[in-house]
Order: sequence, then structure tokens, then C-alpha cells
Amino acid sequence: MVEDLETSLFLEYAKRRISFEYDNEETGELAVKILRTLIERNEAIPDETLALILGTSATEIRRILHVMHKTGLVGLARESVDQYRYEYKWFLNKDFIRKFLSQHINKVTTKLMHRINTLSSTTLYICPTCFRGYTLDEAYEYDFRCPRDDTELMQIDTPSEIAFLSNIIKNLRGEETE
Ligand SMILES: [Zn+2]
Repeated sequence: MVEDLETSLFLEYAKRRISFEYDNEETGELAVKILRTLIERNEAIPDETLALILGTSATEIRRILHVMHKTGLVGLARESVDQYRYEYKWFLNKDFIRKFLSQHINKVTTKLMHRINTLSSTTLYICPTCFRGYTLDEAYEYDFRCPRDDTELMQIDTPSEIAFLSNIIKNLRGEETE
């Protein structure tokens, strides 16, 4: 399967995220195998079928699917078998991936914007020991030493930090609208 950029970004993120959740690289790789199978199939399928295709226990597959569902990495559909019974199926497609990436980018952008606002409005000095931030007035008042641990305060290079973060935001936004 030839993957487009969005799909590779998505799978790379999923791998890192699930490896981190389980503190296990192999689980992250299995998660990618599950997601790839769902993309290739391009239809909603039950976890037993996924287990058969991948030759892994259904219990393990189900466990990973639930974690991925909680983090929004996979879709879950409920289909009625007959009047009384339902079947749960998992799916993943291009639309789903695009929506996920767009939301993720927005979240990251919001965080960065917040950081920029904090930098430009208040924090000018920082304590390298406890990372507490100080305004210029406060730094003067404390004679440029942290009142908590007496460490010498460091001036933050605000303009260059803001330029750096703004650049990241611009790149993220560009990817989103392309
Ligand atoms: Zn300090």
C-alpha cells in the first residue's frame, strides 16, 4: 500500500501515542498493523475478524482498540444484526484521519498561542532551578535572585522565542489548509 502524507503522519502519531500509553514499542507497532488493516479493508469490521487477519488474540486486539477509540484514533460503529442484536465494528478512513489531524493541529496551535501570550505579556525572567517566571518588576524587587531557592534569574529572549513559536504555528496552519 502506498501511503499519502496524512496517513503516514497519522500512523506515526498513533504508534508513538500507543507505545507511550503501554510503555511498549511492540504494542505501538501492533496498533499500526490494526489501523493499516482497517484502512486497506475500507469497511467496518468486528474485532474477531481483525484478530483472524492479524493472527493475534482477539482479547489483545480489543484492548488496544478500546484505548485507540478513547484517544479518537479509530471509529466504532454499531450495526444491528437483527431486531434484538447489535454488532460492534471498527473503521478507519481518509475522512476520519483528516478530521483527527485537523483537531490535533488545532489543539497544538492553541497551546502554542497560549504560550506566546504568556511570554509577551508577563514572563521576562525565569528561575532555572524551579522554572518559576518573573516580570521585570519582580526581578528587580528580588534583586534578580529567585526568592524560593536563591538561584540567579535568567532573562528570557522573548522576541526570538516568539518568532520561533510563531513559525511553528504558521507551518501547522499551512499543513491544515493545504
Ligand atoms: Zn527558583
